Amino acid sequence: MPELPEVQTVVNGIKSKIKNHKVLKLKKYINKLRYPIQKDLSSKVKDCKVITVFRRAKYIIINLSNNKSLIIHLGMSGRVIIVKNNKKIYKHTHICIFFDQNLVLQFIDPRRFGNIFVTETSLLKNNKFFRDLGVEPLSGQLNFKYLSNLVQSKKSPIKNIIMNQKYIVGVGNIYASEALFLSGINPSNIGNSITKSDCIKLVKAIKFVLREAIKLGGSSINDHTMISGKMGYFQNKLKVYGREGLKCRKRTCQSPIIRIVIAQRSTFYCVRCQK
Ligand SMILES: [Zn+2]
Repeated sequence: MPELPEVQTVVNGIKSKIKNHKVLKLKKYINKLRYPIQKDLSSKVKDCKVITVFRRAKYIIINLSNNKSLIIHLGMSGRVIIVKNNKKIYKHTHICIFFDQNLVLQFIDPRRFGNIFVTETSLLKNNKFFRDLGVEPLSGQLNFKYLSNLVQSKKSPIKNIIMNQKYIVGVGNIYASEALFLSGINPSNIGNSITKSDCIKLVKAIKFVLREAIKLGGSSINDHTMISGKMGYFQNKLKVYGREGLKCRKRTCQSPIIRIVIAQRSTFYCVRCQK
């Protein structure tokens, strides 16, 4: 499933290609992805210019010159590619957006869990998909004060807390495991047992793993590929995720990595390094 770094990679990729370009038309080849697709999607974007492209949580937001925004969520297996002249419509392409200068954005989604819709930009904050989202992990809003206040009253495992989208968005299973390893925190530790110094380390670690993954183009586990079609390289850097039974990467440790299940999600950690 595309996680925050992959989505950011897509945003960076498409922003550089479609910003200031005009939408000529939008074609849909399907009426429903995860939800029914708006019938008037095409007329809502036609003849508009792309003002900017950015990310909120795992949503790609394309601001248009008519004060509307086109929102894309990649779901489980979605991809976005930009092609010139549209010589080839890829398998599972459900939407094509045609821009000036022969640029075409194709939204490809084999499993059809993605979402695409248009809304008034001014109403975005209160939109049902956006209104309950927590803080952006790479923004200043995720800081020591926020995390330490958050965990104080919580009796759930720290891993669940940092993965809860109502508190912090976009810290998926891989990145939660990795950040907890880097900060030396056992993922099962209960929120209110997390010390102040652990909170400082964890905030830093969350930002670090996400930034590293963005630099390397996401982790591309499963069927996500980057906008250019290349796989991300972050998966080669994973310290605990998917490494059950393998030696801890910390040279002085080398204990085998353990896999446990927390809230039905595979969780990987080192018993020696994460107390
Ligand atoms: Zn270790």
